[in-house]
Amino acid sequence: MEFDKTGLEDRTFEISSITNARTYSFLCNMTTGVSRWSKNAVDDFALSGEYMTDASEQWESRIYPEDLASYRKSFEKIWNRHTDSQEFEYHIKNRYGDYILVTCRAIIIHGKDGDPDLFAGTIINHGIEDDIDSITGLHSDSSFVSRLQGILNNHDDAAVLKIGIKQFEHLNVLYGYKLGNDVLRAFAQSLIGATKTAGYVYRLGGAKFAIVLPRKCTHEQMEEYYNRLQKYMQYNFTVNGEIMPISIYAGAFIITPEYKGTVISIKSSLTYSLSISKEEKHGELVFFDQEDKDFGDRFKLLSAIHKDILNGCKGFYIVYQPLVDVETGKVAGAEALLRWRNDDYGDVPPGMFIPWLETDVVFYELGLWIFRTAISEMKVLKQTHPELILNVNISASQLERKEFTSDVMEIITESGFPPQDLIVELTERCRHLDYDLLNDMADFFHKHGIKVSLDDFGTGASALNLLRSMPIDELKLDMSFIRNVENSTVDQIIVNNILNIAKQMNIKTCIEGIETKSVGDFLRPQNATYYQGYFYSKPIKKNELSEYIKCQK
Ligand code: C2E
Ligand code: MG
Ligand code: MG
Repeated sequence: MEFDKTGLEDRTFEISSITNARTYSFLCNMTTGVSRWSKNAVDDFALSGEYMTDASEQWESRIYPEDLASYRKSFEKIWNRHTDSQEFEYHIKNRYGDYILVTCRAIIIHGKDGDPDLFAGTIINHGIEDDIDSITGLHSDSSFVSRLQGILNNHDDAAVLKIGIKQFEHLNVLYGYKLGNDVLRAFAQSLIGATKTAGYVYRLGGAKFAIVLPRKCTHEQMEEYYNRLQKYMQYNFTVNGEIMPISIYAGAFIITPEYKGTVISIKSSLTYSLSISKEEKHGELVFFDQEDKDFGDRFKLLSAIHKDILNGCKGFYIVYQPLVDVETGKVAGAEALLRWRNDDYGDVPPGMFIPWLETDVVFYELGLWIFRTAISEMKVLKQTHPELILNVNISASQLERKEFTSDVMEIITESGFPPQDLIVELTERCRHLDYDLLNDMADFFHKHGIKVSLDDFGTGASALNLLRSMPIDELKLDMSFIRNVENSTVDQIIVNNILNIAKQMNIKTCIEGIETKSVGDFLRPQNATYYQGYFYSKPIKKNELSEYIKCQK
Protein backbone atom coordinates (compact mmCIF):
# COMPACT_ATOMS: atom_id res chain seq x y z
CA MET A 1 0.00 0.00 0.00
CA GLU A 2 1.23 3.51 -0.89
CA PHE A 3 1.23 6.09 1.91
CA ASP A 4 1.35 9.85 1.71
CA LYS A 5 4.67 10.37 3.49
CA THR A 6 4.53 14.17 3.62
CA GLY A 7 6.28 15.50 6.72
CA LEU A 8 7.47 12.06 7.81
CA GLU A 9 10.60 11.52 5.75
CA ASP A 10 13.16 13.18 7.96
CA ARG A 11 16.02 10.67 7.83
CA THR A 12 17.19 11.42 11.37
CA PHE A 13 14.04 9.64 12.50
CA GLU A 14 15.80 6.34 11.85
CA ILE A 15 18.43 7.15 14.47
CA SER A 16 15.94 6.72 17.25
CA SER A 17 15.43 3.02 16.49
CA ILE A 18 19.08 2.26 16.94
CA THR A 19 19.96 4.52 19.87
CA ASN A 20 18.12 2.54 22.44
CA ALA A 21 16.20 -0.69 22.13
CA ARG A 22 13.83 0.34 24.91
CA THR A 23 12.79 3.61 23.30
CA TYR A 24 10.38 3.76 20.40
CA SER A 25 9.50 6.82 18.36
CA PHE A 26 6.62 7.88 16.19
CA LEU A 27 5.68 10.80 14.00
CA CYS A 28 2.21 11.52 12.72
CA ASN A 29 1.13 14.06 10.14
CA MET A 30 -1.95 15.54 11.79
CA THR A 31 -3.42 16.58 8.44
CA THR A 32 -3.14 13.29 6.52
CA GLY A 33 -3.36 11.01 9.58
CA VAL A 34 -0.44 8.93 8.26
CA SER A 35 2.07 7.96 10.93
CA ARG A 36 5.56 6.51 10.89
CA TRP A 37 6.89 4.24 13.62
CA SER A 38 10.42 3.22 14.52
CA LYS A 39 11.37 -0.30 13.43
CA ASN A 40 11.79 -1.60 16.97
CA ALA A 41 8.18 -0.60 17.71
CA VAL A 42 6.92 -2.41 14.58
CA ASP A 43 8.82 -5.54 15.69
CA ASP A 44 8.10 -5.51 19.42
CA PHE A 45 4.38 -4.85 19.05
CA ALA A 46 3.78 -6.69 15.77
CA LEU A 47 2.39 -3.55 14.08
CA SER A 48 1.36 -3.81 10.43
CA GLY A 49 4.32 -1.75 9.15
CA GLU A 50 6.51 1.31 9.45
CA TYR A 51 3.83 3.55 7.91
CA MET A 52 0.20 3.29 8.98
CA THR A 53 -3.07 5.14 8.62
CA ASP A 54 -4.74 3.23 11.43
CA ALA A 55 -1.95 3.34 14.02
CA SER A 56 -4.32 4.67 16.64
CA GLU A 57 -6.66 1.66 16.35
CA GLN A 58 -3.78 -0.80 16.19
CA TRP A 59 -2.16 0.72 19.27
CA GLU A 60 -5.39 1.00 21.29
CA SER A 61 -6.29 -2.62 20.60
CA ARG A 62 -3.13 -3.63 22.49
CA ILE A 63 -3.59 -1.38 25.52
CA TYR A 64 -4.57 -3.01 28.80
CA PRO A 65 -8.36 -2.48 28.94
CA GLU A 66 -8.30 -0.89 32.40
CA ASP A 67 -5.80 1.71 31.18
CA LEU A 68 -7.71 2.63 28.07
CA ALA A 69 -9.90 5.39 29.47
CA SER A 70 -7.02 7.32 31.00
CA TYR A 71 -4.89 6.72 27.88
CA ARG A 72 -7.61 8.19 25.66
CA LYS A 73 -8.01 11.15 27.94
CA SER A 74 -4.30 12.01 27.83
CA PHE A 75 -4.11 11.32 24.12
CA GLU A 76 -7.09 13.51 23.30
CA LYS A 77 -5.74 16.33 25.41
CA ILE A 78 -2.75 16.65 23.13
CA TRP A 79 -4.38 15.59 19.85
CA ASN A 80 -7.09 18.24 20.34
CA ARG A 81 -4.31 20.71 21.10
CA HIS A 82 -5.38 21.49 24.69
CA THR A 83 -1.71 21.16 25.49
CA ASP A 84 1.52 21.00 23.49
CA SER A 85 3.13 18.19 25.42
CA GLN A 86 1.97 15.35 27.56
CA GLU A 87 3.48 12.42 29.46
CA PHE A 88 1.42 9.35 30.30
CA GLU A 89 1.84 5.78 31.47
CA TYR A 90 -0.06 2.65 30.57
CA HIS A 91 0.31 -1.08 30.04
CA ILE A 92 0.40 -2.47 26.54
CA LYS A 93 0.62 -5.96 25.11
CA ASN A 94 3.81 -6.82 23.26
CA ARG A 95 4.08 -9.39 20.47
CA TYR A 96 4.35 -12.20 23.03
CA GLY A 97 1.09 -11.26 24.69
CA ASP A 98 2.78 -9.85 27.84
CA TYR A 99 1.54 -6.57 29.21
CA ILE A 100 4.42 -4.20 29.80
CA LEU A 101 4.50 -0.76 31.34
CA VAL A 102 5.39 2.13 29.02
CA THR A 103 5.76 5.88 29.41
CA CYS A 104 4.78 7.93 26.41
CA ARG A 105 6.04 11.49 25.93
CA ALA A 106 4.20 13.22 23.15
CA ILE A 107 4.54 16.70 21.71
CA ILE A 108 3.03 18.76 18.94
CA ILE A 109 5.55 20.14 16.45
CA HIS A 110 3.87 23.12 14.83
CA GLY A 111 4.41 23.30 11.08
CA LYS A 112 5.88 26.48 9.59
CA ASP A 113 5.22 27.97 6.14
CA GLY A 114 2.36 25.62 5.26
CA ASP A 115 4.00 22.46 6.64
CA PRO A 116 1.57 20.23 8.51
CA ASP A 117 1.56 20.00 12.31
CA LEU A 118 3.20 16.82 13.53
CA PHE A 119 2.24 14.73 16.47
CA ALA A 120 5.50 13.19 17.65
CA GLY A 121 6.82 11.32 20.57
CA THR A 122 8.83 8.64 22.27
CA ILE A 123 7.62 5.63 24.17
CA ILE A 124 9.87 4.12 26.82
CA ASN A 125 9.40 0.41 27.46
CA HIS A 126 9.87 -0.13 31.19
CA GLY A 127 9.75 -3.81 30.35
CA ILE A 128 10.21 -6.65 32.73
CA GLU A 129 13.92 -6.03 33.26
CA ASP A 130 13.50 -2.56 34.67
CA ASP A 131 10.75 -3.33 37.08
CA ILE A 132 13.07 -3.99 39.99
CA ASP A 133 12.48 -2.83 43.55
CA SER A 134 15.63 -1.00 44.62
CA ILE A 135 15.55 -2.20 48.23
CA THR A 136 14.97 -5.93 47.84
CA GLY A 137 16.07 -6.47 44.25
CA LEU A 138 12.77 -8.25 43.61
CA HIS A 139 10.46 -7.63 40.67
CA SER A 140 7.56 -5.45 41.71
CA ASP A 141 3.91 -4.91 41.00
CA SER A 142 3.90 -4.54 37.21
CA SER A 143 5.83 -7.80 36.77
CA PHE A 144 3.39 -9.47 39.14
CA VAL A 145 0.54 -8.20 36.98
CA SER A 146 2.22 -9.42 33.78
CA ARG A 147 2.84 -12.82 35.32
CA LEU A 148 -0.82 -13.19 36.35
CA GLN A 149 -1.96 -11.97 32.94
CA GLY A 150 0.25 -14.57 31.24
CA ILE A 151 -1.23 -17.33 33.42
CA LEU A 152 -4.78 -16.24 32.57
CA ASN A 153 -3.98 -15.92 28.85
CA ASN A 154 -2.63 -19.46 28.76
CA HIS A 155 -5.38 -20.89 31.00
CA ASP A 156 -2.74 -22.31 33.34
CA ASP A 157 -2.98 -23.56 36.91
CA ALA A 158 -1.29 -21.44 39.57
CA ALA A 159 -1.39 -20.55 43.24
CA VAL A 160 -0.83 -17.02 44.47
CA LEU A 161 0.07 -15.92 47.99
CA LYS A 162 0.09 -12.35 49.23
CA ILE A 163 2.06 -11.95 52.45
CA GLY A 164 2.40 -9.02 54.85
CA ILE A 165 4.76 -8.42 57.77
CA LYS A 166 2.85 -7.58 60.94
CA GLN A 167 3.54 -4.22 62.60
CA PHE A 168 6.31 -3.41 60.18
CA GLU A 169 5.61 0.32 60.65
CA HIS A 170 6.62 0.05 64.30
CA LEU A 171 10.01 -1.30 63.30
CA ASN A 172 10.57 1.80 61.24
CA VAL A 173 9.53 4.06 64.08
CA LEU A 174 11.47 2.25 66.77
CA TYR A 175 14.67 1.47 64.93
CA GLY A 176 14.68 3.77 61.91
CA TYR A 177 14.49 3.26 58.19
CA LYS A 178 17.82 1.56 57.73
CA LEU A 179 16.81 -1.38 59.86
CA GLY A 180 13.38 -1.39 58.18
CA ASN A 181 15.12 -1.79 54.82
CA ASP A 182 17.43 -4.50 56.18
CA VAL A 183 14.35 -6.41 57.35
CA LEU A 184 12.71 -6.10 53.93
CA ARG A 185 15.87 -7.32 52.24
CA ALA A 186 16.28 -10.27 54.61
CA PHE A 187 12.59 -11.10 54.27
CA ALA A 188 12.85 -11.12 50.49
CA GLN A 189 15.86 -13.45 50.71
CA SER A 190 13.95 -15.81 53.03
CA LEU A 191 11.02 -15.92 50.60
CA ILE A 192 13.37 -16.67 47.72
CA GLY A 193 15.03 -19.37 49.83
CA ALA A 194 11.68 -20.92 50.73
CA THR A 195 10.40 -20.79 47.16
CA LYS A 196 13.62 -21.82 45.39
CA THR A 197 12.91 -22.56 41.76
CA ALA A 198 9.28 -23.51 42.44
CA GLY A 199 7.91 -20.01 42.03
CA TYR A 200 8.35 -16.28 41.67
CA VAL A 201 8.62 -13.71 44.45
CA TYR A 202 7.52 -10.05 44.12
CA ARG A 203 7.50 -7.01 46.36
CA LEU A 204 4.18 -5.22 46.08
CA GLY A 205 4.96 -2.06 48.02
CA GLY A 206 5.22 -1.43 51.76
CA ALA A 207 5.79 -4.65 53.66
CA LYS A 208 3.67 -6.71 51.23
CA PHE A 209 5.04 -9.48 49.06
CA ALA A 210 3.59 -11.99 46.62
CA ILE A 211 4.58 -15.47 45.61
CA VAL A 212 3.31 -17.09 42.43
CA LEU A 213 3.60 -20.87 42.21
CA PRO A 214 2.92 -21.68 38.55
CA ARG A 215 1.41 -25.15 39.00
CA LYS A 216 -1.61 -26.96 40.35
CA CYS A 217 -1.70 -26.73 44.17
CA THR A 218 -4.19 -27.98 46.71
CA HIS A 219 -5.29 -25.94 49.72
CA GLU A 220 -3.40 -28.39 51.96
CA GLN A 221 -0.16 -27.98 50.03
CA MET A 222 -0.40 -24.21 50.25
CA GLU A 223 -1.20 -24.34 53.93
CA GLU A 224 1.76 -26.57 54.56
CA TYR A 225 4.01 -24.26 52.57
CA TYR A 226 2.72 -21.20 54.42
CA ASN A 227 2.93 -22.80 57.88
CA ARG A 228 6.57 -23.67 57.26
CA LEU A 229 7.22 -20.09 56.21
CA GLN A 230 5.42 -18.73 59.24
CA LYS A 231 7.44 -20.92 61.64
CA TYR A 232 10.68 -19.97 59.96
CA MET A 233 9.90 -16.25 60.35
CA GLN A 234 8.97 -16.77 63.99
CA TYR A 235 12.03 -18.74 65.04
CA ASN A 236 14.85 -18.49 62.52
CA PHE A 237 14.51 -15.15 60.73
CA THR A 238 17.79 -13.24 61.02
CA VAL A 239 18.69 -9.67 60.17
CA ASN A 240 22.35 -8.66 60.11
CA GLY A 241 23.26 -11.88 61.88
CA GLU A 242 20.75 -11.46 64.72
CA ILE A 243 17.63 -13.57 65.20
CA MET A 244 14.60 -11.31 64.88
CA PRO A 245 11.22 -12.98 65.23
CA ILE A 246 8.56 -11.53 62.96
CA SER A 247 4.91 -12.43 62.43
CA ILE A 248 3.31 -12.61 59.04
CA TYR A 249 -0.21 -12.83 57.64
CA ALA A 250 -1.34 -13.95 54.22
CA GLY A 251 -4.12 -14.37 51.70
CA ALA A 252 -4.19 -16.99 48.96
CA PHE A 253 -5.87 -17.42 45.62
CA ILE A 254 -5.91 -20.51 43.43
CA ILE A 255 -6.15 -19.98 39.68
CA THR A 256 -7.57 -22.84 37.64
CA PRO A 257 -7.73 -23.08 33.83
CA GLU A 258 -11.50 -22.49 34.10
CA TYR A 259 -11.11 -19.22 36.01
CA LYS A 260 -13.04 -16.46 34.20
CA GLY A 261 -12.00 -13.41 36.23
CA THR A 262 -9.37 -10.76 35.52
CA VAL A 263 -6.03 -9.83 37.07
CA ILE A 264 -7.83 -6.99 38.84
CA SER A 265 -10.27 -9.40 40.45
CA ILE A 266 -7.43 -11.65 41.62
CA LYS A 267 -5.66 -8.65 43.14
CA SER A 268 -8.83 -7.43 44.89
CA SER A 269 -9.49 -10.94 46.23
CA LEU A 270 -5.97 -11.16 47.61
CA THR A 271 -6.30 -7.76 49.27
CA TYR A 272 -9.53 -8.90 50.84
CA SER A 273 -8.27 -12.26 52.16
CA LEU A 274 -5.07 -10.59 53.39
CA SER A 275 -7.08 -8.14 55.47
CA ILE A 276 -9.17 -10.98 56.96
CA SER A 277 -5.98 -12.86 57.84
CA LYS A 278 -4.58 -9.80 59.59
CA GLU A 279 -7.68 -8.52 61.31
CA GLU A 280 -9.69 -11.65 62.13
CA LYS A 281 -7.52 -14.75 61.82
CA HIS A 282 -4.30 -13.81 63.63
CA GLY A 283 -2.14 -14.41 60.58
CA GLU A 284 -3.66 -17.73 59.48
CA LEU A 285 -3.64 -18.29 55.73
CA VAL A 286 -6.99 -17.16 54.31
CA PHE A 287 -8.16 -18.44 50.94
CA PHE A 288 -10.33 -16.37 48.72
CA ASP A 289 -13.07 -18.87 48.32
CA GLN A 290 -15.00 -18.20 45.14
CA GLU A 291 -17.91 -20.26 46.43
CA ASP A 292 -18.18 -18.38 49.75
CA LYS A 293 -21.29 -16.25 49.84
CA ASP A 294 -19.75 -13.25 51.61
CA PHE A 295 -16.85 -13.13 49.20
CA GLY A 296 -19.17 -13.69 46.26
CA ASP A 297 -21.44 -10.86 47.37
CA ARG A 298 -18.56 -8.49 47.88
CA PHE A 299 -17.30 -9.42 44.47
CA LYS A 300 -20.58 -8.67 42.75
CA LEU A 301 -20.73 -5.36 44.57
CA LEU A 302 -17.22 -4.45 43.43
CA SER A 303 -17.97 -5.40 39.82
CA ALA A 304 -21.10 -3.24 39.87
CA ILE A 305 -19.12 -0.30 41.27
CA HIS A 306 -16.37 -0.90 38.76
CA LYS A 307 -18.86 -0.76 35.91
CA ASP A 308 -20.37 2.47 37.22
CA ILE A 309 -16.97 4.17 37.43
CA LEU A 310 -16.23 3.29 33.82
CA ASN A 311 -19.68 4.61 33.04
CA GLY A 312 -18.71 8.19 33.94
CA CYS A 313 -18.90 7.68 37.74
CA LYS A 314 -22.59 6.94 37.51
CA GLY A 315 -24.39 6.55 40.86
CA PHE A 316 -21.72 8.36 42.84
CA TYR A 317 -22.40 11.51 44.78
CA ILE A 318 -20.78 13.56 47.49
CA VAL A 319 -22.12 14.34 50.94
CA TYR A 320 -20.69 16.98 53.25
CA GLN A 321 -20.14 16.80 56.97
CA PRO A 322 -19.81 20.18 58.70
CA LEU A 323 -16.61 21.11 60.52
CA VAL A 324 -17.52 23.34 63.42
CA ASP A 325 -15.24 26.01 64.83
CA VAL A 326 -14.91 25.08 68.51
CA GLU A 327 -14.48 28.68 69.66
CA THR A 328 -17.39 30.29 67.79
CA GLY A 329 -19.62 27.23 67.34
CA LYS A 330 -20.07 28.22 63.66
CA VAL A 331 -19.66 26.03 60.62
CA ALA A 332 -16.14 26.65 59.32
CA GLY A 333 -16.27 24.23 56.43
CA ALA A 334 -17.10 20.67 55.48
CA GLU A 335 -15.50 17.36 54.66
CA ALA A 336 -16.50 15.84 51.32
CA LEU A 337 -17.40 12.14 51.72
CA LEU A 338 -18.14 9.78 48.88
CA ARG A 339 -21.38 7.81 48.49
CA TRP A 340 -22.53 5.30 45.89
CA ARG A 341 -26.13 4.47 45.11
CA ASN A 342 -27.41 1.63 43.00
CA ASP A 343 -30.88 0.14 42.43
CA ASP A 344 -29.80 -3.30 43.66
CA TYR A 345 -27.67 -2.25 46.59
CA GLY A 346 -29.22 1.02 47.77
CA ASP A 347 -26.84 3.52 49.42
CA VAL A 348 -23.46 1.95 50.02
CA PRO A 349 -21.04 3.62 52.49
CA PRO A 350 -17.44 4.13 51.33
CA GLY A 351 -15.98 1.84 54.00
CA MET A 352 -17.57 -1.04 52.05
CA PHE A 353 -15.63 -0.37 48.88
CA ILE A 354 -12.86 2.22 49.16
CA PRO A 355 -10.28 -0.06 50.84
CA TRP A 356 -10.73 -2.61 48.04
CA LEU A 357 -11.11 -0.16 45.23
CA GLU A 358 -8.00 1.79 46.12
CA THR A 359 -5.77 -0.87 44.58
CA ASP A 360 -7.81 -0.83 41.40
CA VAL A 361 -6.62 1.21 38.43
CA VAL A 362 -10.07 2.72 37.88
CA PHE A 363 -9.93 4.37 41.31
CA TYR A 364 -7.79 7.15 39.89
CA GLU A 365 -10.61 8.33 37.63
CA LEU A 366 -13.05 8.23 40.53
CA GLY A 367 -10.62 10.19 42.71
CA LEU A 368 -10.47 12.98 40.13
CA TRP A 369 -14.24 12.95 39.82
CA ILE A 370 -14.52 13.39 43.62
CA PHE A 371 -12.12 16.32 43.51
CA ARG A 372 -13.87 17.98 40.58
CA THR A 373 -17.36 17.48 41.98
CA ALA A 374 -16.61 18.56 45.55
CA ILE A 375 -14.73 21.65 44.40
CA SER A 376 -17.40 22.80 41.99
CA GLU A 377 -20.24 22.17 44.45
CA MET A 378 -18.43 23.98 47.25
CA LYS A 379 -17.60 26.85 44.91
CA VAL A 380 -21.34 27.44 44.48
CA LEU A 381 -21.89 27.34 48.24
CA LYS A 382 -19.06 29.80 48.77
CA GLN A 383 -20.95 32.44 46.78
CA THR A 384 -23.20 32.88 49.82
CA HIS A 385 -20.74 31.65 52.46
CA PRO A 386 -17.30 32.75 51.27
CA GLU A 387 -15.58 31.74 54.52
CA LEU A 388 -16.18 27.99 54.04
CA ILE A 389 -13.24 25.63 53.70
CA LEU A 390 -13.36 22.27 51.97
CA ASN A 391 -11.68 19.06 53.15
CA VAL A 392 -11.19 16.33 50.53
CA ASN A 393 -9.89 12.83 51.30
CA ILE A 394 -6.95 11.55 49.26
CA SER A 395 -5.90 7.93 48.82
CA ALA A 396 -2.40 6.52 48.60
CA SER A 397 -2.95 5.28 45.06
CA GLN A 398 -3.69 8.85 43.91
CA LEU A 399 -0.48 10.23 45.38
CA GLU A 400 1.48 7.51 43.64
CA ARG A 401 0.34 8.54 40.18
CA LYS A 402 2.74 10.82 38.33
CA GLU A 403 -0.01 12.85 36.71
CA PHE A 404 -1.90 13.47 39.97
CA THR A 405 -0.36 16.88 40.67
CA SER A 406 -1.01 18.23 37.18
CA ASP A 407 -4.55 16.83 37.16
CA VAL A 408 -5.29 18.46 40.53
CA MET A 409 -3.95 21.80 39.37
CA GLU A 410 -5.98 21.60 36.19
CA ILE A 411 -9.17 21.02 38.19
CA ILE A 412 -8.43 23.86 40.60
CA THR A 413 -7.47 26.29 37.85
CA GLU A 414 -10.52 25.45 35.75
CA SER A 415 -12.87 25.81 38.73
CA GLY A 416 -11.38 29.03 40.08
CA PHE A 417 -11.67 27.61 43.60
CA PRO A 418 -9.39 29.49 46.04
CA PRO A 419 -6.64 26.95 46.88
CA GLN A 420 -6.09 28.44 50.34
CA ASP A 421 -9.60 27.22 51.28
CA LEU A 422 -8.81 23.66 50.29
CA ILE A 423 -7.45 21.00 52.68
CA VAL A 424 -6.37 17.57 51.47
CA GLU A 425 -6.79 14.84 54.07
CA LEU A 426 -4.21 12.08 53.77
CA THR A 427 -6.05 8.93 54.80
CA GLU A 428 -4.40 6.25 56.90
CA ARG A 429 -3.00 4.19 54.04
CA CYS A 430 -1.12 7.21 52.64
CA ARG A 431 1.17 6.96 55.63
CA HIS A 432 2.61 3.72 54.28
CA LEU A 433 4.06 5.59 51.33
CA ASP A 434 7.66 6.52 50.95
CA TYR A 435 8.53 9.60 53.06
CA ASP A 436 10.23 11.30 50.14
CA LEU A 437 7.10 10.99 48.05
CA LEU A 438 4.94 12.29 50.93
CA ASN A 439 7.24 15.26 51.41
CA ASP A 440 7.25 16.05 47.69
CA MET A 441 3.47 15.96 47.74
CA ALA A 442 3.22 18.20 50.79
CA ASP A 443 5.64 20.65 49.13
CA PHE A 444 3.56 20.60 45.96
CA PHE A 445 0.33 21.34 47.84
CA HIS A 446 1.95 24.07 49.93
CA LYS A 447 3.52 25.70 46.88
CA HIS A 448 -0.01 26.16 45.54
CA GLY A 449 -1.48 27.33 48.85
CA ILE A 450 -3.33 24.07 49.58
CA LYS A 451 -3.24 22.77 53.17
CA VAL A 452 -2.43 19.23 54.24
CA SER A 453 -4.18 17.31 56.99
CA LEU A 454 -3.41 13.91 58.53
CA ASP A 455 -6.64 11.95 58.81
CA ASP A 456 -7.45 9.40 61.53
CA PHE A 457 -4.45 10.52 63.54
CA GLY A 458 -3.37 8.11 66.26
CA THR A 459 -4.35 4.93 64.42
CA GLY A 460 -2.38 2.73 62.03
CA ALA A 461 0.98 3.60 60.56
CA SER A 462 3.63 5.79 62.14
CA ALA A 463 1.71 9.04 62.41
CA LEU A 464 4.00 10.54 65.04
CA ASN A 465 7.04 9.97 62.92
CA LEU A 466 5.37 11.70 60.00
CA LEU A 467 4.67 14.72 62.13
CA ARG A 468 8.38 15.02 62.65
CA SER A 469 9.39 14.69 59.04
CA MET A 470 6.62 16.28 57.02
CA PRO A 471 5.08 19.77 57.04
CA ILE A 472 1.47 19.37 58.22
CA ASP A 473 -1.23 22.02 58.69
CA GLU A 474 -3.89 20.03 60.48
CA LEU A 475 -4.38 16.74 62.21
CA LYS A 476 -7.68 14.97 62.66
CA LEU A 477 -7.79 12.96 65.84
CA ASP A 478 -9.36 9.59 65.17
CA MET A 479 -12.77 9.01 66.67
CA SER A 480 -11.68 5.76 68.34
CA PHE A 481 -10.05 7.89 71.06
CA ILE A 482 -13.25 9.85 71.55
CA ARG A 483 -15.79 7.07 71.88
CA ASN A 484 -15.03 6.46 75.60
CA VAL A 485 -13.05 9.55 76.39
CA GLU A 486 -15.36 10.63 79.20
CA ASN A 487 -14.72 7.40 81.11
CA SER A 488 -11.27 6.30 80.02
CA THR A 489 -8.30 7.92 81.68
CA VAL A 490 -5.98 6.40 79.07
CA ASP A 491 -7.95 8.00 76.22
CA GLN A 492 -7.95 11.30 78.08
CA ILE A 493 -4.17 11.19 78.42
CA ILE A 494 -3.71 10.34 74.74
CA VAL A 495 -6.12 13.03 73.50
CA ASN A 496 -4.63 15.63 75.80
CA ASN A 497 -1.07 14.88 74.72
CA ILE A 498 -1.72 14.67 71.00
CA LEU A 499 -3.57 17.99 71.08
CA ASN A 500 -0.73 19.51 73.10
CA ILE A 501 1.85 18.37 70.60
CA ALA A 502 -0.20 19.88 67.77
CA LYS A 503 -0.68 23.14 69.63
CA GLN A 504 3.03 23.51 70.28
CA MET A 505 3.77 22.78 66.66
CA ASN A 506 1.19 25.32 65.53
CA ILE A 507 -0.87 22.67 63.81
CA LYS A 508 -4.66 22.97 63.68
CA THR A 509 -6.68 20.10 65.11
CA CYS A 510 -10.03 18.55 64.37
CA ILE A 511 -11.66 16.06 66.72
CA GLU A 512 -13.73 13.50 64.82
CA GLY A 513 -16.71 11.60 66.20
CA ILE A 514 -18.32 14.17 68.51
CA GLU A 515 -21.63 12.37 68.99
CA THR A 516 -23.05 14.11 72.05
CA LYS A 517 -23.08 17.58 73.54
CA SER A 518 -21.49 16.20 76.68
CA VAL A 519 -18.36 14.91 74.83
CA GLY A 520 -17.99 18.28 73.12
CA ASP A 521 -18.24 20.05 76.48
CA PHE A 522 -15.91 17.58 78.13
CA LEU A 523 -13.22 18.18 75.51
CA ARG A 524 -13.65 21.95 75.33
CA PRO A 525 -10.72 22.74 77.67
CA GLN A 526 -8.47 20.98 75.14
CA ASN A 527 -8.93 23.89 72.71
CA ALA A 528 -9.12 21.89 69.50
CA THR A 529 -9.74 24.02 66.39
CA TYR A 530 -12.69 22.08 64.92
CA TYR A 531 -15.26 19.51 65.98
CA GLN A 532 -16.84 17.07 63.55
CA GLY A 533 -19.48 14.52 64.41
CA TYR A 534 -23.07 13.34 64.46
CA PHE A 535 -23.91 15.72 67.32
CA TYR A 536 -23.60 18.58 64.87
CA SER A 537 -24.64 16.75 61.75
CA LYS A 538 -24.28 13.51 59.83
CA PRO A 539 -22.82 13.91 56.33
CA ILE A 540 -25.55 15.66 54.29
CA LYS A 541 -26.24 16.65 50.68
CA LYS A 542 -25.04 20.01 49.39
CA ASN A 543 -28.42 21.77 49.58
CA GLU A 544 -28.96 20.42 53.09
CA LEU A 545 -25.59 21.83 54.08
CA SER A 546 -26.63 25.19 52.75
CA GLU A 547 -29.87 24.98 54.83
CA TYR A 548 -27.90 23.83 57.87
CA ILE A 549 -25.63 26.87 57.69
CA LYS A 550 -28.58 29.22 57.18
CA CYS A 551 -30.52 27.80 60.15
CA GLN A 552 -27.47 28.05 62.31
CA LYS A 553 -27.20 31.76 61.54
P1 C2E B 1 -12.87 9.68 57.34
O1 C2E B 1 -12.26 10.53 56.28
O2 C2E B 1 -12.18 9.62 58.65
O3 C2E B 1 -14.34 10.24 57.47
C1 C2E B 1 -15.05 10.29 58.64
C2 C2E B 1 -16.02 9.17 58.74
O4 C2E B 1 -16.56 9.17 60.06
C3 C2E B 1 -17.21 9.30 57.81
O5 C2E B 1 -17.64 7.98 57.45
C4 C2E B 1 -18.27 9.92 58.71
O6 C2E B 1 -19.58 9.66 58.29
C5 C2E B 1 -17.98 9.24 60.00
N1 C2E B 1 -18.43 10.01 61.15
C6 C2E B 1 -18.43 11.34 61.27
N2 C2E B 1 -18.88 11.72 62.47
C7 C2E B 1 -19.19 10.59 63.14
C8 C2E B 1 -19.70 10.33 64.46
O7 C2E B 1 -19.98 11.21 65.24
N3 C2E B 1 -19.85 9.02 64.80
C9 C2E B 1 -19.56 8.01 63.96
N4 C2E B 1 -19.74 6.76 64.37
N5 C2E B 1 -19.08 8.22 62.71
C10 C2E B 1 -18.89 9.51 62.32
P2 C2E B 1 -17.79 7.57 55.96
O8 C2E B 1 -18.40 8.67 55.18
O9 C2E B 1 -18.46 6.25 55.98
O10 C2E B 1 -16.30 7.42 55.45
C11 C2E B 1 -15.48 6.42 55.92
C12 C2E B 1 -14.09 6.57 55.39
O11 C2E B 1 -14.07 6.33 53.97
C13 C2E B 1 -13.53 7.98 55.52
O12 C2E B 1 -13.05 8.18 56.81
C14 C2E B 1 -12.43 7.97 54.48
O13 C2E B 1 -11.27 7.31 54.96
C15 C2E B 1 -13.05 7.12 53.39
N6 C2E B 1 -13.62 8.05 52.39
C16 C2E B 1 -14.84 8.62 52.35
N7 C2E B 1 -14.98 9.41 51.28
C17 C2E B 1 -13.80 9.35 50.62
C18 C2E B 1 -13.31 9.97 49.42
O14 C2E B 1 -13.96 10.76 48.77
N8 C2E B 1 -12.03 9.65 49.04
C19 C2E B 1 -11.26 8.79 49.78
N9 C2E B 1 -10.04 8.55 49.35
N10 C2E B 1 -11.69 8.21 50.90
C20 C2E B 1 -12.94 8.49 51.33
MG1 MG C 1 -11.35 12.17 56.23
MG1 MG D 1 -11.07 10.59 59.68
